[in-house]
Amino acid sequence: MSAHGQVQSDARLRVAIVGGGWAGLAAAVELASAGVQVTVFESARQLGGRARSVEVGTASAPLRVDNGQHILIGAYCETLRLMREVGADPERLLLRRPLELHHPGSAAAPAFSLRLPRLPAPWHLALGLLGARGVSLAEKIAAARFMRRLEARRWTLPEDESVAALLQRERQGPRLRRYFWEPLCLSALNTPAADASAQVFVNVLRDSLAGASDATDLLLPAADLDRVFAAPAASFVVARGGAIRLASRVRAIEPDGSQWLVTVDGSGDQRERFDQVVVATAAPAAARLLAPWPALAGPCAALEHAPIGTLYLGYPPEVRLPLPMLGLEQAAALGQWVFDRGQLCGTAGVLAFVFSGSGAWEAHDADELARRLHRELESALGRALPTPTWRQLIRERRATFVCRPGLARPGCRTGIPGLWLAGDFVWAGYPSTLEGAVRSGVAAAHEILRR
Ligand SMILES: Cc1cc2nc3c(=O)[nH]c(=O)nc-3n(C[C@H](O)[C@H](O)[C@H](O)COP(=O)(O)OP(=O)(O)OC[C@H]3O[C@@H](n4cnc5c(N)ncnc54)[C@H](O)[C@@H]3O)c2cc1C
Repeated sequence: MSAHGQVQSDARLRVAIVGGGWAGLAAAVELASAGVQVTVFESARQLGGRARSVEVGTASAPLRVDNGQHILIGAYCETLRLMREVGADPERLLLRRPLELHHPGSAAAPAFSLRLPRLPAPWHLALGLLGARGVSLAEKIAAARFMRRLEARRWTLPEDESVAALLQRERQGPRLRRYFWEPLCLSALNTPAADASAQVFVNVLRDSLAGASDATDLLLPAADLDRVFAAPAASFVVARGGAIRLASRVRAIEPDGSQWLVTVDGSGDQRERFDQVVVATAAPAAARLLAPWPALAGPCAALEHAPIGTLYLGYPPEVRLPLPMLGLEQAAALGQWVFDRGQLCGTAGVLAFVFSGSGAWEAHDADELARRLHRELESALGRALPTPTWRQLIRERRATFVCRPGLARPGCRTGIPGLWLAGDFVWAGYPSTLEGAVRSGVAAAHEILRR
């Protein structure tokens, strides 16, 4: 059987996938399309994990939002490939926009704006920087030189360097740091520049700013996240003879000869037998399942996590932002970005405010955040807004792992026959992202198919 070959149907390999997030589903899709019989065990009542849809609103006016506003970029090539494979058309489900950053000015600082035209690298960055407003020519030249030097070093940096140290060493000016590099780092790694791995950040820059002409495009979900991947991926797997088992928390996995026994909560001592197992949960759950193998569990348990908050405010439908995504980076701002879900998903008047990483926002309750973010938006837009009619705050306390320099991350090979790992923390080249999760799932599937 080759990596992409079909498995004979009379001797179908049976693979258990623990976790129905984007990593587990990516592994399931890849294996199912090669003829493997997969069973996805998901402890929650729905698929999607940290990228899922959530029902808010009332019985008479139900509304679906996401557990957090997600952004994809054009460089997420594996995610886009798998979306197409399962019949989720990225052109229809994602709103593609050139990378555009706008920060309204204040009395103390002029407005900043930057838009990358859709041209091959390095022209999109060069022309984007040249046309940036609110930043000096000297800063623009320093940024262009920085990218050239990274390319000359083949995007390889000392493992222990932080993004802040890198920007300092590369003499990046204060305006581009504040309005471009640091927000980019926080959005991509959910880790502030002072704590973030320069190497992982630069990996993302390599694939985006130095990638194909559309690699820096922002791809904003134009439908709820379930429809973007989880639901079509599940249908794809089931149509190929796979099984999706919701509300099925795996309590234990154990080897039995050349096979594996999987025990699900509530099944008593009943265990199911599989040829191979992919553990595709987030790191803390993986640490629990892998406890019998301390060398595997240790690095999973050691990862620290950072929160992301999303505050949805419901305004009258006529409230519309000048752009689908707007920066709120003023002095003392609690929020980083605000998204207009009316322009994105057709729910006019629904705005999503995002708080990335640990910060001052965590100290406030939902009502206080709603009051403050409403005022921050009014000040960013320079006009009064009607009072929101409802609000919903979703705090994801362990949204992503903290992507520190030199982090020890496990790979998808465990060294134990028939046991594989997937999950955003496994694919070492990327931060905690959808693309990292999908790549890890694809990598685990390819390892299984290679044997
Ligand atoms: C609010 C928020 C905003 C984000 N924004 C972005 C963004 O803009 N762009 C981006 O690229 N990424 C973003 N991310 C990160 C991205 O969502 C994650 O990196 C990705 O979803 C991780 O997928 P995963 O499959 O590795 O893990 P998970 O999504 O955590 O999936 C693991 C699954 O395993 C299940 N599970 C756990 N234990 C068991 C068990 N014992 N048995 C069975 N099932 C189990 C869980 O219920 C879960 O469904 C964001 C994350 C959050 C929370």
